[in-house]
Amino acid sequence: MADILIGNGTVITLGKANQCIEKGAIVVRDRRIEAVGIESELRAQYPTARFADARGGLIMPGFLCTHTHFYGAFARGLAIPGEPPRNFPQILQQLWWRLDKALMPEDLAASAELFLVDAIRHGTTCVIDHHASPNAVAGSLDIIAGAVATSGLRACLAYEVSDRDGPAIIEAGIRENERFIRALRNEFSTLAQEGLLAASYGLHASFTLSPETLERCAAGGSELGVGFHIHVAEDVSDEEDSLAKYGKRVVERLLGEHILGPRSIAAHCVHVQSGEIAALASTQTNSVHNPRSNMNNAVGRAPVEEMLAAGVNMGLGNDGFSMNMMQEMKNAYLMHKLATGDPRSMSGELVLNMAFAYNARIVEAVFSPFATDFARVGELSAGAAADLVLLDYYPPTPLNSGNFPWHLIFGIDAQHVNSTMVAGRWLMRDRQMQEMDEERIHARARELAEGLWKRI
Ligand SMILES: [Zn+2]
Repeated sequence: MADILIGNGTVITLGKANQCIEKGAIVVRDRRIEAVGIESELRAQYPTARFADARGGLIMPGFLCTHTHFYGAFARGLAIPGEPPRNFPQILQQLWWRLDKALMPEDLAASAELFLVDAIRHGTTCVIDHHASPNAVAGSLDIIAGAVATSGLRACLAYEVSDRDGPAIIEAGIRENERFIRALRNEFSTLAQEGLLAASYGLHASFTLSPETLERCAAGGSELGVGFHIHVAEDVSDEEDSLAKYGKRVVERLLGEHILGPRSIAAHCVHVQSGEIAALASTQTNSVHNPRSNMNNAVGRAPVEEMLAAGVNMGLGNDGFSMNMMQEMKNAYLMHKLATGDPRSMSGELVLNMAFAYNARIVEAVFSPFATDFARVGELSAGAAADLVLLDYYPPTPLNSGNFPWHLIFGIDAQHVNSTMVAGRWLMRDRQMQEMDEERIHARARELAEGLWKRI
C-alpha cells in the first residue's frame, strides 16, 4: 500500500511532543504513522506518497472511550413504564435490567453497529465495551466482535458476570468471557494481534457478585492473563451493600478478591474514600470517569482530582451515552466546577489528559496482552497507530498547543469531524462512511428496537 501524506492542515500531535504544527502534515504507512512534521519537508521526503487534503482544518488523534455499553443504544427514546425511578437501584431495576434481559442475539449486532457508526461519525477510534444480555449470553461477544471487525474500529469487549439472574446465567457469563478471551488467541487472533480486538474479564459490580463467583473469576482471569472490567462504587448503595455483607468497602473487597491490577478497569469510583484510592493507586488499577452518566443517574461526582493526585490512572468514558467524547469532555470540565463552587476545579489540561493520555494507557493495558507490538494511540507521533480525525475547524482566535484544550471544550464539536481513520484505513472520508451502511444500520435498529421495547 502506498504511503498517505495528509496535509494542508494544522497538526495537533498531543503526546509527549505536544506540538501544534501549522502547515503541517503526517505520513501514514500501513497501520502506523511514519512521520509528523512540516508539509513542505515531508512532501520532499515522501514524493511518492498519495496526498490526502485536510482542507485547512485540524489533523488530530482519534478520540478514545474506555467505558461504554453498546446495548445502551436501544435506550434512546425509551419510556420506562410506571413511576419514574427515584434512585440508582430503581434505575437499574426499571430500565437497564429489563432492557438487557430483553436483548436477543439479533439485537446485539444491531446495537453494536449503531454505536460503532456513531463512534466513527464522532471521530472516536477505540472503545472499551462492557456487555450484558442475560437471555442471550453464549456467543454474544462473537456477535459484537463481528460488528467490530466490519466497522474497522478498535474495541475491547467483556461480558458482565453477575449473580443477579441465578446460577445458570453466572455459569454462562463466566464461560462467555473465558471462551472469548481464548478465541482472541485462536479464531480472532489476526484482529487481536493487529491491536484491533481485545478483551477484559467482565464483572457487573460488587453488589451483584458473591464471594464464590468473584473467586472463580479471579482464578480464570489470572490464568488467561487479562484484567477485569467492573463498575465500582457508582452509587453509594454499592458501598452500603459491601459494608453490610462483608464489613469492608468495595475497593477493599475487590483487593482481597484479587480483582485489582494494572490491566483492570474500575469504572466510576464515585463513592471511593481515601483508603480505597490508595489501594487503586498501589495496585495500578485504572479508573474511568463518566460525567454524563453520573449526572443523569444523580449518583454523585467521582473525586477525580484527588484520585489523579494520588496516582490513579483515570480515563474518560461515556457509559452508553453517545460516542461523542467531546461532549463527555465538556461535561467533565463543567460538572466539577459547579459541584465545588471553584472555577479552578478540573482544568482543561486535566480533561484533555484524561481523554487522550490517560485513556491511551488504559487502551494499551487491555490490548497489549493480545497485540504483537501494540502501537500507541491518543497521539500523532512516528510509530504510533494511524488512528486520527480531520476536523473542519478554522479557529476564530489564536490556536496553539497550550490553549488547545479550551478550543476543544469551547469551540470544537461533533459537526467539525469530517474524516476518521483507524489503523491507516479511512472509515469515514468527507463525511461519507467507507465501510458501514449507515442507512441500513439505522433502519434495522429502528425495526428491532420496536420489538425490544414491546418485550420490555
Ligand atoms: Zn457502565
